[in-house]
Amino acid sequence: MCGIVGYIGKQNTKEILINGLKELEYRGYDSAGIAVLQDNKLDTFKATGKIKNLEEKLSNSTLNTQQLMPNIGIGHTRWATHGKPTELNAHPHLGEYSCVVHNGIIENYKDLKEELENVGYKFVSQTDTEIIVHLFEFYFDKNNNAKKAFIQTIKRLEGAYSILLITKKEPNKIFFIKHGSPLAIAKGNNDGEVLFASSDAPLIGLANDVVYLDDDICGIADENGIDFFNAIDSKPLTPTFETLPNSKQSAQKNGHRFFMEKEIYEQSDVVVESMLGRVNDENILFDEIDKGITDNINEIKICACGTSYHAGLTASYLFERLSKIRCSIEIASEFRYKEPLLTKDTLFVAISQSGETADTLEALKMAKNAGLKTLVVCNVDNSSMTRIADFTILTRAGIEKGVASTKAFSTQTVVLWMMALYFAKQKNVISNDVLKKEILTLKKVPDSLKVENKIHEKCVRLSKRYLHGHGFFFIGRDVFFPLALEGALKLKEISYLHAEGYPAGEMKHGPIALADPELFTIALMPQHLHYEKIKSNVEELSARDSTICAISPLDFELADDFIKTKKTDHYMLEFFEMLIALQLLSMEISIRLGNDVDMPRNLAKSVTVE
Ligand code: GLU
Repeated sequence: MCGIVGYIGKQNTKEILINGLKELEYRGYDSAGIAVLQDNKLDTFKATGKIKNLEEKLSNSTLNTQQLMPNIGIGHTRWATHGKPTELNAHPHLGEYSCVVHNGIIENYKDLKEELENVGYKFVSQTDTEIIVHLFEFYFDKNNNAKKAFIQTIKRLEGAYSILLITKKEPNKIFFIKHGSPLAIAKGNNDGEVLFASSDAPLIGLANDVVYLDDDICGIADENGIDFFNAIDSKPLTPTFETLPNSKQSAQKNGHRFFMEKEIYEQSDVVVESMLGRVNDENILFDEIDKGITDNINEIKICACGTSYHAGLTASYLFERLSKIRCSIEIASEFRYKEPLLTKDTLFVAISQSGETADTLEALKMAKNAGLKTLVVCNVDNSSMTRIADFTILTRAGIEKGVASTKAFSTQTVVLWMMALYFAKQKNVISNDVLKKEILTLKKVPDSLKVENKIHEKCVRLSKRYLHGHGFFFIGRDVFFPLALEGALKLKEISYLHAEGYPAGEMKHGPIALADPELFTIALMPQHLHYEKIKSNVEELSARDSTICAISPLDFELADDFIKTKKTDHYMLEFFEMLIALQLLSMEISIRLGNDVDMPRNLAKSVTVE
């Protein structure tokens, strides 16, 4: 979670840091801070809340940013893991003469803190991060060598971290390490410039060459260059720089009120990108994976978190139904610690929008170490997961800025469905006719994802009736069960109302006890998949007076509220039609409640902590 930036150079450091942090704000936004080091003076500025608060603070500060041209600085936008989101806990964290920003978690910070407190060090924050700066100074005071002290420090740290550290003892340098959390380093366009960031977005336009650091690469940068070395054996390294992408994808809202709204509307276009070059009339093509990927494979194990988990669960139905391969799915944070049985006849599929999701990343490493074939479905090229997995299929959703994921989910689902068809063909378990029909249906997905005015208007009107109550149940069967989970998650994330997704057939095994007029049931009732079964389940709830909002292409007289989706000829098209309705309904409820749709409380975009 969180974003870190760093800069060495002759431009206005504060401006560069703030602009960089704004690009990373989606990663965490409960506080932010920067530190600049110039003329052996270390200034820090911190503010709670979003970057604009920090910016305001900087503009009110007595320091003249025009005259002040510091040549070294680091910055951080936080998603608190240890300690409340207060100014005191905001990064950068200061020692006596050094300062640090950190993304991740130091798992053994308590032991280290106790050790340092015993020899007189004072801590002011509740964070795990503060230990880093004191530990560094502890070692520096012992041997008067910053490089040595930095290496000794990182050797003591357990957990996940990317760190930037600056110190008055070496006032022209930034010390850096990547271990688990992402970090990119770039040579700036001007002579002697070096830039750091958690992702490449802040670097675009300012630099051409970048290194996406691998784990346990650390180093020291100054205006004369960058020394890279291995954090474990201190041996020098020469990573290869790559060319940075040169266009920052549109960060504008294109006339929409929120990024989330823009992203809901653009799903119809981005899924076309997801299919580009991968679908012809008769076949699915994935140049990026081996033709023999399913050879000797008897099981697919999917691992993911959050919305990606819902896409994975949807895929688990499709892999069994279409590819005839046994498929199981696990929540990554559970998988990691359950001592899973991993056998080499399993294809391990990790799904993550960012490719940085900490739990999924670790699960992927476990599978890789166990010798499994690994494949990642991900939206961000050059992310940690894409660098580890044997194969990567990019979803091509473009930058997703709304914290509540929308187009990442639809593109993941489309890509996974294509994979199911691809595997089916490889294994020769699908007839050419069925494959052709599925491909024809796939090509209609962009149409099903088009937002129709009348659906959006209906969601606006309905939203006013769903601002209270003691809870929501989203129910569905088969792939509409993961869709129900996703609908409930969207509502929770941005409206802060309690919502649960449930398999419709399970309601009578307990949850139906909650049914009364204040219990809102959002029922997904597709025409082409178990319609009669779900209808009975909804009737059971209606008989117990739950308020029913049905989403279906077929009229349903028992519904209190009704969102009528377009009639189609395939359940997967109904799936995407209903997805749009669910996303819009959540968004409109959130807007009416006056919430921050794009940056809901307590959340962050890319979950790079466990
Ligand atoms: N664990 C650190 C903190 O709570 C860093 C969290 C982050 O990655 O934003 O301050």
